[in-house]
Amino acid sequence: MKALRHFTVRAHLPEPLSALAELSTNLRWSWHPATQDLFASIDADLWATGKDPVRLLADVGPQRLSALAADDGFLRRLDELASDLQNYLNRPRWFQEQVASGNRFPRSIAYFSMEFGVSEVLPIYSGGLGILAGDHLKAASDLGLPLIGVGLLYRYGYFRQSLTSDGWQTERYPNLDPQGLPVRAVLDAEGNPVTVRVLMPDNRVLHAKVWIADVGRIPLLLLDSDIPDNDTDLRMITDRLYGGDQEHRINQEILAGVGGVRAVREYTRINDLPAPDVFHMNEGHAGFLGAERIRELVSPAGAGLDFDTALTAVRASTVFTTHTPVPAGIDRFPIDMVRRYFGDDGGQSTLLPGIELARILELGREKDPTVFNMAHMGLRLGQRTNGVSKLHGAVSREMFGPLWPGFDAAQVPIGSVTNGVHAPTWSSRRWAELATDGESGGLTETDALAAMKDVPAEQIWKTRNELRTELIAEVRRRLRKSGLERGYSAAELGWTAGVFSARVLTIGFARRAATYKRLTLMLRDTDRLKALLLDKERPVQLVVAGKAHPADEGGKALIQKIVRFADANDVRHRIVFLPDYDMSMARYLYGGCDVWLNNPLRPMEACGTSGMKSALNGGLNLSILDGWWDEMSDNENGWAIPTADGVTDEVRRDDLEAAALYELLENVVVPKFYDVGSDGVPTRWVEMVRHTLHTLGPQVLASRMVRDYAEQFYAPAAISGHAVSDNDFAGARELSGFRAQVDEAWPSVRVRHVDTAGLPDTPLLGSTMTISAHVDLAGLSPEQVLVQAVVGRVDEEENLSQVVTTTMSVSSGGNLSDDSTIFEVAVPLPMTGPVGYTVRVMPTHPLLTNTAELAKVAFAN
Ligand SMILES: *Cc1c(COP(=O)(O)O)cnc(C)c1O
Repeated sequence: MKALRHFTVRAHLPEPLSALAELSTNLRWSWHPATQDLFASIDADLWATGKDPVRLLADVGPQRLSALAADDGFLRRLDELASDLQNYLNRPRWFQEQVASGNRFPRSIAYFSMEFGVSEVLPIYSGGLGILAGDHLKAASDLGLPLIGVGLLYRYGYFRQSLTSDGWQTERYPNLDPQGLPVRAVLDAEGNPVTVRVLMPDNRVLHAKVWIADVGRIPLLLLDSDIPDNDTDLRMITDRLYGGDQEHRINQEILAGVGGVRAVREYTRINDLPAPDVFHMNEGHAGFLGAERIRELVSPAGAGLDFDTALTAVRASTVFTTHTPVPAGIDRFPIDMVRRYFGDDGGQSTLLPGIELARILELGREKDPTVFNMAHMGLRLGQRTNGVSKLHGAVSREMFGPLWPGFDAAQVPIGSVTNGVHAPTWSSRRWAELATDGESGGLTETDALAAMKDVPAEQIWKTRNELRTELIAEVRRRLRKSGLERGYSAAELGWTAGVFSARVLTIGFARRAATYKRLTLMLRDTDRLKALLLDKERPVQLVVAGKAHPADEGGKALIQKIVRFADANDVRHRIVFLPDYDMSMARYLYGGCDVWLNNPLRPMEACGTSGMKSALNGGLNLSILDGWWDEMSDNENGWAIPTADGVTDEVRRDDLEAAALYELLENVVVPKFYDVGSDGVPTRWVEMVRHTLHTLGPQVLASRMVRDYAEQFYAPAAISGHAVSDNDFAGARELSGFRAQVDEAWPSVRVRHVDTAGLPDTPLLGSTMTISAHVDLAGLSPEQVLVQAVVGRVDEEENLSQVVTTTMSVSSGGNLSDDSTIFEVAVPLPMTGPVGYTVRVMPTHPLLTNTAELAKVAFAN
């Protein structure tokens, strides 16, 4: 008999143990080893099965709890850890110091994401994007940022992966019941659960309950539609992450964006907290939050602004981060679907009253008029936008360049913040203990990494060996479990106890089975791979993991190909595929692998973070120069796999890059690992590990990433936001009026003609030329434009590169009879060889971040 539903009954904690309640539900335990030790001391076996404190306390039984309530040693540790947590939650941190020293920072930041990977006990993530969001919250907590996370609580989360006997992926969706999760309902002043409402098509109302998960100091608000107030179909909206069709997705994204803003408003009102002055969209999925904020501002109960002024105000305080250059990774909805959901009542949106439907549709416009593009909406709603590595910033400027016609990619106003990972989560505690001579904790993450500089090589090597050994035990355990699931009998699985060896070079490859990640590149030449795996003196062992999206048959076929290869008797002790890659497996992989392999199709990997987590454990990256590795590889912290950039035949490109990978392994990586001195230590290898820990480590930290966001994005966005909203939105009215004026004038703005003077007959480097331009400003004033002389290298097609731009000013010659204005500047010739120049005009305003922002430019022609 099967249960229809289930729920978890929490244990009643005896009074002396009451502090366990907060210690077990505040997710800070997940990055605090001492608190984990406390849980392990309650019941080591129960703890080991799920590393889930809420479940542990429910399962442990009243007898054990009574015993603990009388155990002085336990109570003393409990007391220490409880006050440590209070100290963590209340002590001023980096952010408070910044504010105290006079820096202007936001009062509050709302951070929206469709997935959050904080811990495996709250499985509402699928992979990189969600874990990044989780690391963002944790680092924000460590730094003391006043940030509120906003997302959805999924009834089934993301799927759990297992394999059939022939290696095909199957999916299970365990039911997550909120009582068993580290979440609690947000309650209003009367103690009633808070719900938010969102209008659906056909005048139906979607209700969502608001939960909260405590991520250290950060509240994470999670919306849940699975409540009795809703019809069955609406209850299903938050059933699965990335499940279902586009209709399902738009439902989820409307709930997250529109409902999410409403949840934040309720939460800050009830708790008397400042309203966020910055909103951060982690990827375009949450973009509808901007439309809801416009609704707030146009509503008579709000500021009663017109749409354009409201948009200007929202833009100023919105940060948008794009996470993928892969077109399939971007949400695009049929425009008719968006129309239906936002509703049309005589041209006005019914979902967001007071806004014209056409204006909403315009936010997601792209070149295909039948499609609504969520990334384009993000770019239009965020005055500050970024990619997630330097290379991805450049790729995004190229990819979204058409939204800024007339501008070179370099000028497209999309910046970058390179992702980072949360060291207390991803760096094995062994490293901190090594740095502090066995004591856990005490050192900051950067100090612990810096300390690696002086740790003796044998100690570093010993730690690497211990981590590899732990991984091997986990590999064997998981492989056996998977074998049983695949239908083998225990008797047939004896061999799994002998897979992998302690002193063998261990390579890890774990990631989603997306095509561009090329899961099977390593199988390009199976003979060559086998030779590496089975070498008598210097073998290699390879652990592979990753999920394919449930609808991705191609991805599942790639997994099957690996599994079948790894199933063969001759190699199965040296290569394994472990099903169900998630955070709990990931920790072992990042700790234990000596080499972390990544071979995406450049430049499709926006950043990639698994290699960073490996680096924090002394893993050496062996990777295509893509994403973060493109900017942080220094030849001493790993190896760059040469890319066949420009080879358009994909088969040939794969062949070339696979060959380069084998060659590196055979000739460089393997020999170095096995180059062991008489003391048993591979000194040159260990020096690379040391170098990785203390030089690369500090660069890949989520705390570095969150500080970058705080300083370069949140603080300026808060300042812009206040600049446009103070004095009853005077700035927003002014800027939006300016924009309208520019829109109208621009078709007539012209550079009528350009003259140069002052050059000698034989121009030399540094000779000065005076450029003057007659510009028809079409009614704009000279202060409203930026006129620039652009000088640079010129090629046969007259294309300019390596340009130097100089601002031109109004010449005393004044206005001409034809109404144009003369702008002039003297420019020294910046280079030898063929040099060209032109003149361009762009609108400028102190409330813009960038002269490219309005995507308006006029050139001399
Ligand atoms: C870090 C992580 C990812 C993302 O890794 P990429 O290198 O970006 O592919 C995916 N899944 C898990 C479980 C992770 O920990």
